[in-house]
Amino acid sequence: MIIVLLGPPGCGKGTQAQRLMDAMHLPQISTGDMLRKALKDGTPLGLEAKKYMESGQLVPDSLVINIMKERVKSPDCAKGFVLDGFPRSIPQAEALDVMLSDIGKKIDVAINFDVPEEELIIRISGRRSCPKCGAMFHIRFSPPKTEGICDKCGEKLYQRADDNEETVRNRLKVYNSQTAPLIDYYSKKGVLKNIVAGGGTPDSVFAKVKEIVGF
Ligand code: AMP
Repeated sequence: MIIVLLGPPGCGKGTQAQRLMDAMHLPQISTGDMLRKALKDGTPLGLEAKKYMESGQLVPDSLVINIMKERVKSPDCAKGFVLDGFPRSIPQAEALDVMLSDIGKKIDVAINFDVPEEELIIRISGRRSCPKCGAMFHIRFSPPKTEGICDKCGEKLYQRADDNEETVRNRLKVYNSQTAPLIDYYSKKGVLKNIVAGGGTPDSVFAKVKEIVGF
């Protein structure tokens, strides 16, 4: 099954992708995580992506499309995957359709998470992640048992450099102009499902995801 998770930064895509991965044993493909790793490893891709990521702009389509072309062909993707943060523009969505049709696959469902903008800012500014195992927390809504420490692996948690308010507002603008048109794109293809996720907990939203995905 191929599932696309859509929605603005902070809407809960990453959290729901992790839950789907655990429940359905499908890999979560996050272009944001792949780019952050490239940046940390100092690869040419990471160095190129850095300036865009730090200012909250989208990394050029050609770069992310290239990394995705390789990723979807990996053996762990054979039974499907959950896309988190890709596609993020119409050219990316069109490129995804082509790369999937090349391997005889297609998107089963695109789930859009609808959350009001002011709630997104509160969610993002409290977000903390584990650099080692990728677990995610929120200082208010899902705090770790020990402040600043990952419950799963004991690593020190960090706040993403682009989770500060100014960059977040820019990321939301970029989302509205470049990514939101995908809602219409997938609606026209008949694969869009919308979840009103504002005010919801990860559990209540996941219950709706499960209903849509059918397990
Ligand atoms: P995320 O972790 O998905 O919020 O992504 C963090 C940042 O990585 C974004 O603000 C973009 O700069 C970049 N990025 C991630 N995915 C994409 C994508 N599909 N297209 C372009 N830029 C991306």
